[in-house]
Amino acid sequence: MACKKCEKGKKILDRGLYRTGEFLHRVAERFQESQCSFHWDDEGKEVTPAHIFKRMLLRNRRFSKSWILTEKKASALLVGCMDYRFSLQDVFGDTRHLYDFIRVPGVVLSDEVREGILLSVKGHGVSVVIVIEHTDWCAMQETSKSEEASSYPLLSKAIGEQDANWNKLISVPYLKEKIDEGKLLIVRGELEKITGRYKVKEVAYKGEDDWDIGEDK
Ligand SMILES: [Zn+2]
Repeated sequence: MACKKCEKGKKILDRGLYRTGEFLHRVAERFQESQCSFHWDDEGKEVTPAHIFKRMLLRNRRFSKSWILTEKKASALLVGCMDYRFSLQDVFGDTRHLYDFIRVPGVVLSDEVREGILLSVKGHGVSVVIVIEHTDWCAMQETSKSEEASSYPLLSKAIGEQDANWNKLISVPYLKEKIDEGKLLIVRGELEKITGRYKVKEVAYKGEDDWDIGEDK
């Protein structure tokens, strides 16, 4: 049996290595972001769809060399917009790929999305569902209020029904049961454009422990 001192030392080492990995991940991202003038597709040639796809396939082949199919269990589901300007993985620091994702224009909580959320909770056993809206800077939100809305009738309608759909979501019998037992937390909030901070708007949770980190954090 390992001594308590050794166990404590191992925990400190594990935490240190984990934090180092997290730090390196952020550095790698900043490193590429600082080279924003560089683009793979900018080689003086005409950029055709085939050209872009070819580059993407080559990147896939590089990716596949270090491909590991995770055996880990999902702990949370993030529901966000299709918007390319932010990665759902980054918003909540999912560097270890532990979350499920649903991306849909305008983050509409439509019937299909509601079923997808149920599938993640029931099938993958996630205990946290985070709905990430970005209302003030969402292209689909703007479109739903413009003349273009008629080109996207289903999405535009669903955007107008978001509050009602939120209530439908937290009333799904299986989800409600889990919420009442304190085993599921579903939250709806906004991602701020300027700060990147997630601001909680509504929470469905009946567990006793507190999730609030305080305003100044
Ligand atoms: Zn959006």
